[in-house]
Amino acid sequence: MQPRMQVVQGDITTLAVDVIVNAANPSLLGGGGVDGAIHRAAGPALLEACRQVRQLQGECAPGHAVITAAGNLPAKAVIHTVGPVWRGGEENEAHLLEDAYRNSLQLAEANGYTSIAFPAISTGVYGYPKAAAAEIAVNTVAAHLTRRPQLQQVIFVCFDEEMTHLYQRLLTQQSV
Ligand code: ADP
Repeated sequence: MQPRMQVVQGDITTLAVDVIVNAANPSLLGGGGVDGAIHRAAGPALLEACRQVRQLQGECAPGHAVITAAGNLPAKAVIHTVGPVWRGGEENEAHLLEDAYRNSLQLAEANGYTSIAFPAISTGVYGYPKAAAAEIAVNTVAAHLTRRPQLQQVIFVCFDEEMTHLYQRLLTQQSV
């Protein structure tokens, strides 16, 4: 049987999973890094969908998540979550990062989806130390999957080799 958690090195915008997760900023109106790449690949329909969400509920706080259609992407939906900005580790960053993963998983399930791909949330411009962030990502997802059967596939998408190796090492210690 395929393990439910996998690591892939590459560009998250190319994946034909049910949901890709965007490491958004609170404005939900696009930005750099993976956010910029997702908006470029999805086209203007994604920005319009984000604008509508913003009009309904305002900005997205760190740790929270919202869902939109996926425009031109091969995925069916995009979940936009906001990770914490790293401020040295004493500002609740770890809990907020866990919340970002957990709320994204719950939102995917609530919409009936069974496969999801995550970028390494907060490890770019937001400055979260990579090894610590990868550990939180894998542990939070693993804890969730052991309790919940719906999600069949969770892919951690890494942009560079260093991050890929970090995740690969962590995944060998997991059994889900
Ligand atoms: P944040 O603001 O949450 O730190 P970033 O987009 O700056 O978000 O970076 C998050 C992670 O996404 C980084 O590890 C970065 O290397 C990675 N990344 C950037 N572009 C892509 C992409 N197209 N696909 C997958 N990961 C990406």
